[in-house]
Amino acid sequence: MQVLATVCAFSLDYCTDFQYIEGLTMKFFIRTFGCQMNVYDSELISELLLKEGLKEAPSPGEADVILVNTCTVRQKAEERGHEYARFWKKRGKKVVMLGCLAQQEKERLMDAADLVIGTRSYTLLPKTIRELLGKRRKAVLTEDSGLIDLTEISLSRSPRLSGFSEFVTIMRGCDNFCSYCIVPYVRGRETSRPPEMIISEIKNLESRGIIEVTLLGQNVNSYFYKGTDFAELLDMIDRNTSLYRLRFTTSHPRDMSYKTVKTIMNSRRITHWFHLPLQAGSTRVLRLMRRGYTKEEYLDLVETIRKLDPEASITTDIMVGFPGEEEVDFLETLDVVEKAGFDHAYTFVFTKRPHTAAFYLKETLSPGEKGKRLRRLIDCLNKTIWHRRQRMLGRVYELLIEGPSRKNKRLSKGRTDGNITVVVTRELKPGMRVLAKVREIKGLTPIADVVEMLE
Ligand code: SF4
Repeated sequence: MQVLATVCAFSLDYCTDFQYIEGLTMKFFIRTFGCQMNVYDSELISELLLKEGLKEAPSPGEADVILVNTCTVRQKAEERGHEYARFWKKRGKKVVMLGCLAQQEKERLMDAADLVIGTRSYTLLPKTIRELLGKRRKAVLTEDSGLIDLTEISLSRSPRLSGFSEFVTIMRGCDNFCSYCIVPYVRGRETSRPPEMIISEIKNLESRGIIEVTLLGQNVNSYFYKGTDFAELLDMIDRNTSLYRLRFTTSHPRDMSYKTVKTIMNSRRITHWFHLPLQAGSTRVLRLMRRGYTKEEYLDLVETIRKLDPEASITTDIMVGFPGEEEVDFLETLDVVEKAGFDHAYTFVFTKRPHTAAFYLKETLSPGEKGKRLRRLIDCLNKTIWHRRQRMLGRVYELLIEGPSRKNKRLSKGRTDGNITVVVTRELKPGMRVLAKVREIKGLTPIADVVEMLE
């Protein structure tokens, strides 16, 4: 029989070298928790493993090895990843834990995993999996010395690509060290990818039918590669590709320059969607959070954007219950919500993350008090978002269709340029582009009728 590669695929108990026999290829399954960056990394890892001769299993039950890409931004996400790994380990599967929790917790996860591999060691994964399965030993790999820089790797994605929308990472890591955030500790310092590599990856996606790309990074605004800043990168992509829509996330309000805002406004393909995490409206709390901007500076940025385009969509993240947050501080947050007029918001209750500066601050609110503030914040947001939605009534929007509506499969859902989900009153295929007129707002969801098919 022909020996194809160096992966042990069968009778692991007896296998001491890494040879495997045709037809008995090792199968892997990846479960991803957390943010879009983790989704992108899972694709990258999958591509590394496919190149190595492994196959992707359609379900965890059919896999020889299960990779759990974990998140540690909040305690709940951390627990879910750990639980998932334990579940499959107990059922006799080989389990590899990856991602932010793996980078941070290392040995603590060995109860649930055979291999723990941190965010800076992914390029070693194929080799380590082979060794793990061959020699049946446990390992922890979270150091980055001597590894290939992930920013130098480009995804071809040919085996997995489907649909019409994809993510492209432009930078990794974060230098900001906001006092509540674990990201700089688990993702490391900022590194940006070369513009040529990013453009070539986007062109490759375009050639495969992708029409929408979202640029990813922990703080995209601080992108910088050998003299090219974020605004210049956006301009280069805009001029050198023919995407239908180009988006990016996540921004840091302090680093969103006027140059970037102008570039977006003058571009052909960059959407007028600005995700600007506020976190808190009180300048005192923002200082405790080490966010680097004041309430007034944040509101100035919103005003600048809306002066250039009153229809620009501004979305945000807001946290309640940061240590030391008084009622008066919380009212400042509500004040910003009312003045900014957000189009959408993600809301959170502060939870302590080990290793961060805020971990050592004294909590001043009980879980019940934090919960009450969260409900008040959501009520306030819903009112302001409702007002923004009313402006959409009777207007025509260009929508990119994503698929059937969640509640009624005979309806479709699509997104506006501003990333607002609209339900369309007929069945349409994902990837289609239409002009649709908003006839009503149900809850906070615009309902629209197609007035013209664009393709
Ligand atoms: S900017 Fe702040 S919140 Fe965002 S990833 Fe960096 S440290 Fe975390």
